[in-house]
Amino acid sequence: MTTASPAHAPSASHLADPDHHPSFTRGVFLGEIREALVFPFPEPSTEEKESLAAILDAFRSWAADTLDSAQIDHDGRFPDAVRQGMAELGLMGLNIPERYGGFGASAMIFNRVFGEIGAHDAALAVYFGAHQSIGIKGIILFGTEAQKHQWLPRCASGECIGAFCLTEAGSGSDAQAMRTTAVPSEDGSHYLLNGAKIWISNAGYAGVLTVFAKVPVTIDGVVKQRVTAFIVDAHAPGISLGKIEEKMGIKGSDTRTITFENVRVPAENLLGEVGGGFKIALEILNSGRLGLSAGSTRGTREMMKLALAHAKEREQFGRSIGSFEMLQRKFAAAAADCYAMDAAWMLCAGMVDRGGVDFSLETAACKIYASELAFRTASETMQIAGGIGYSKEYPYERALRDSRINMIFEGTNEVLRALIALMGLQQPGEELKAVGKAFKAPLHSLGAISSYLTGRVKRTLVKPSFNQVHPSLKDEAELVADNIHALALGVEKALIEHGKAIIERQFLQERMANAAIDIYLATAVLSRVTSVIGRVGEKEAAADLEVARFFIPMAMRRTRRAIRALERNADDAARSIATRALATGDLTVPTPTDT
Ligand SMILES: Cc1cc2nc3c(=O)[nH]c(=O)nc-3n(C[C@H](O)[C@H](O)[C@H](O)COP(=O)(O)OP(=O)(O)OC[C@H]3O[C@@H](n4cnc5c(N)ncnc54)[C@H](O)[C@@H]3O)c2cc1C
Repeated sequence: MTTASPAHAPSASHLADPDHHPSFTRGVFLGEIREALVFPFPEPSTEEKESLAAILDAFRSWAADTLDSAQIDHDGRFPDAVRQGMAELGLMGLNIPERYGGFGASAMIFNRVFGEIGAHDAALAVYFGAHQSIGIKGIILFGTEAQKHQWLPRCASGECIGAFCLTEAGSGSDAQAMRTTAVPSEDGSHYLLNGAKIWISNAGYAGVLTVFAKVPVTIDGVVKQRVTAFIVDAHAPGISLGKIEEKMGIKGSDTRTITFENVRVPAENLLGEVGGGFKIALEILNSGRLGLSAGSTRGTREMMKLALAHAKEREQFGRSIGSFEMLQRKFAAAAADCYAMDAAWMLCAGMVDRGGVDFSLETAACKIYASELAFRTASETMQIAGGIGYSKEYPYERALRDSRINMIFEGTNEVLRALIALMGLQQPGEELKAVGKAFKAPLHSLGAISSYLTGRVKRTLVKPSFNQVHPSLKDEAELVADNIHALALGVEKALIEHGKAIIERQFLQERMANAAIDIYLATAVLSRVTSVIGRVGEKEAAADLEVARFFIPMAMRRTRRAIRALERNADDAARSIATRALATGDLTVPTPTDT
């Protein structure tokens, strides 16, 4: 980074250590409030704030001179000056540790800068994120010293751009089904890589690829295929690039297929262990999702600034359109959502920086909420702009196109909702399974049964509570705690009713995930406002309090509805209608006007 002194990331490994630092959201499924994970609200140090201000200032003035997003969208590529400028600003090494030539930014600073880039240009944020959030993140997290020294300095200078190669034609969400193979040579000196990866961001710019492939491993005399990660030189013989994909949005981002034909990958380029690739991919995506969340949130605020200016200036019926309450509702909802999302991603960045915390459910929650917020708000800003919102002369339609991808990549929102629910259900499910076994031999398992029953009675009667929330948010804190209690009871009932089949019950999983997401966001708001009051006093925090008192009841009303619907729902009818539609290929039964 050329603009400021370094803001050091904490030295602790940021990989999750769930046994010692279990996740907040997993706790919610058990009716527990693990307050130590969400209080106090994380704040950047003074040194970090100074560095951040310098980075943002430098980026903003460079962007004002260099970035023409409408032109980039039109051309479908960045001019060389843009990529060169990002490198000269030092941004391509922002989260690479200092000893490898980077800036060593903490997750808090990295994601805040990510947000700023996203607010200026979504395609540039994808370029930045595909390089650092996912492209070379595997080397940073799992690389050996030699690998880091070999690759990271050139990545930090922007000379070598990273890309992340997981998706294939037959394996998107189900990444384990990949067909790309890496077969070790007889002498063990290298692997031969064969296959094709599709939708690879930064493909055309990349110098280094993190590639996931299946390696044959013999276990008990049987050959099994194990997903393994490799660092691959993007210019190695046997690698070829497809044409640039013509996309709906983020057009400046270079997305292509990469084909590998007998590519020799030196054995020393193995990343982590043979068979450890899937875990590596998940870890990379876990933290990558946070950048996408911060980018979506800042982007939303930026679009709303335009809409606010328009609503103030545009007059209809003899008054500014901003004075109409139907438009005011849109502004208030977006303001509350952005406040909550900022709180949510920052709280999560604090967990990443603390090290060892299992934050995978929180990053998934952030990604889901922020991506849907960005798309919903892009649509609302277009509505506020009216006819000009639909014109290519204004940025509203581009924002709508650009923001749509966020709900698809880095884990689709459906798959992430299933992940939140199924990971949340793990521990309550295991407890119930253990007690189910115990009931089969009750005389030998009285201890287990009585401890389960005591826990159950306690869970039913004793509601959890927040102890660190500022008293002025007592009612809101109680509301959130009540919903955590209700969710745990709802989860337990659903588990008793459906047992293992809960894995197939996505109608229920979606509701559980939605409840958990809203609970996490509401908790983040409680933590953020408590911290603001502590810093500036209640009077000065009036605007924060107002937003919190608007957002939390709204989020908790959604949560209550989701929990209630775990029991009372029309799922059988929904399943039947969808099954019929899938069988006939049409949504509805014939109408009187069909011929
Ligand atoms: C512009 C762009 C850039 C990308 N960049 C990269 C990149 O750099 N590197 C990379 O590796 N990949 C990249 N991708 C790929 C992206 O991550 C995948 O498109 C995404 O994971 C979804 O996979 P898929 O397209 O095969 O969809 P599918 O997996 O086929 O999903 C289709 C639909 O089915 C739903 N679905 C699937 N499984 C389930 C389930 N179990 N439960 C409920 N619903 C389900 C999905 O939610 C989705 O709605 C990029 C994609 C795009 C469009």
